[in-house]
Amino acid sequence: MRINVFWFRRDLRLEDNVGLHKALAQGLPVLPVFIFDKTILDNLPADDARLNFIHQQLGKLHESLRERDSGMLCIHATAEEAINELLKKYDIDTVYANKDYEPTAIRRDTEISGQLRMHGSSLELCKDQVIFEENEVLKPDGKPYTVYTPYMRKWRARLEEENWQFEDLSPDGDFFRNEGYLPELVDIGFKESAIKVKPFNLYDLENYNETRNIPGLEGTSYLSPHLRFGTVSIRKILNHTLNRSETFTNELIWREFFMQILFHFPEVVNRSFKAKYENIIWNNNEEEFAKWCQGKTGYPIVDAGMRELNETGYMHNRVRMVTASFLCKHLLIDWRWGEAYFAEKLLDFELASNNGNWQWAAGCGCDAAPYFRVFNPYEQQKKFDKDMQYIRKWVPEIDSPGYPEPMVDHPFARQRALDRFAEGLKG
Ligand code: FAD
Repeated sequence: MRINVFWFRRDLRLEDNVGLHKALAQGLPVLPVFIFDKTILDNLPADDARLNFIHQQLGKLHESLRERDSGMLCIHATAEEAINELLKKYDIDTVYANKDYEPTAIRRDTEISGQLRMHGSSLELCKDQVIFEENEVLKPDGKPYTVYTPYMRKWRARLEEENWQFEDLSPDGDFFRNEGYLPELVDIGFKESAIKVKPFNLYDLENYNETRNIPGLEGTSYLSPHLRFGTVSIRKILNHTLNRSETFTNELIWREFFMQILFHFPEVVNRSFKAKYENIIWNNNEEEFAKWCQGKTGYPIVDAGMRELNETGYMHNRVRMVTASFLCKHLLIDWRWGEAYFAEKLLDFELASNNGNWQWAAGCGCDAAPYFRVFNPYEQQKKFDKDMQYIRKWVPEIDSPGYPEPMVDHPFARQRALDRFAEGLKG
């Protein structure tokens, strides 16, 4: 029997899933597949919380599919091996999937597409994880935007031009009858993590403007891991937020801004967007880096943020900015070290947003904060955590003699950063 395959990746839902909807509309039965890709899994710790979340979502999908006489077929292999296995077992017309814009994913998909073509099958990729992709929002001269505000304006203008409406794509059509297969975590070399993804919350958008910068409040949506793994559709979210909160919608546009930066300038993965910043000489002191990672810098807001990250896999956006700036400017540690640490710990780790925001904090990114803007951690604390609600939660020993002295003096560190950056950018 000839079938189509739908390959789930960062779109772990049946509802309003463009690629799945399209696959089901073709008339052939659709086999739902997920690949536990060894090239990715081999680099993760055994209790990786993201892998736990993916596994949990797959369990939910598997159950929903069982109700439709089908099941989620999970394969633990490299993508190439998994596709080979499928080609051997099934007569496949087309593999459908949703596009992923990261450079390694693009390379992988190009290879898989070639592999399928050699067997008379094909790969069809759909736009799903963004509202506008690739070349859909460009400057009048046809070049990509590198500054957020004009990008955001054009993005909004396109939405209006298109008279954008949300149309919920329910999964209509036949799934291929099969038992599916969902391994236990241990079968793929993992174990239960103590860290869990919270449900998201869009109830209080009216107050988002006031509450979003206060880390002691639950004033943000906690949407990021859900968007990362596609357990919710971006179109559904936009439909909800568009006329409720301009600020919130602008945050969703930041997400797409960084995604299109990564798509058009994939070299940012390893290099500063602004080439001159490659000349900065970093101190890269490993002991100081360890103190930052552990939340033992002696700067309460920095320590609170790092401990929140280590304990929950999440850090409030305001505090991400403060901790990132502290690492690059106060400690003169290469932003790539901090980026890698966040990538390891964040439940919402997403290459485009993480890289874009780190480069922003270091001053070397497109549309970045100027290098001479050095966040003062004490001022940030006064402004955004004046009652120390956030700090006391994560640094309970704050008033005890056990709490460390600041590892570096703020005025000294500020001046040192200004001098070092000025020196690097001179040439
Ligand atoms: P909300 O305030 O409720 O925002 C709603 C959504 O808007 C977020 O879920 C996210 O999709 C988007 N958004 C908000 N702020 C940004 C932003 N600055 N850039 C891009 N999108 C944004 N976000 C990630 O999703 N993955 C990352 O790996 C990541 N790394 C970051 C690293 C640093 C150094 C900094 C400063 C920020 C980083 N962010 C990252 C952006 C931001 O901190 C998180 O998206 C946000 O804190 C997630 O919490 P929330 O969903 O409650 O946010």
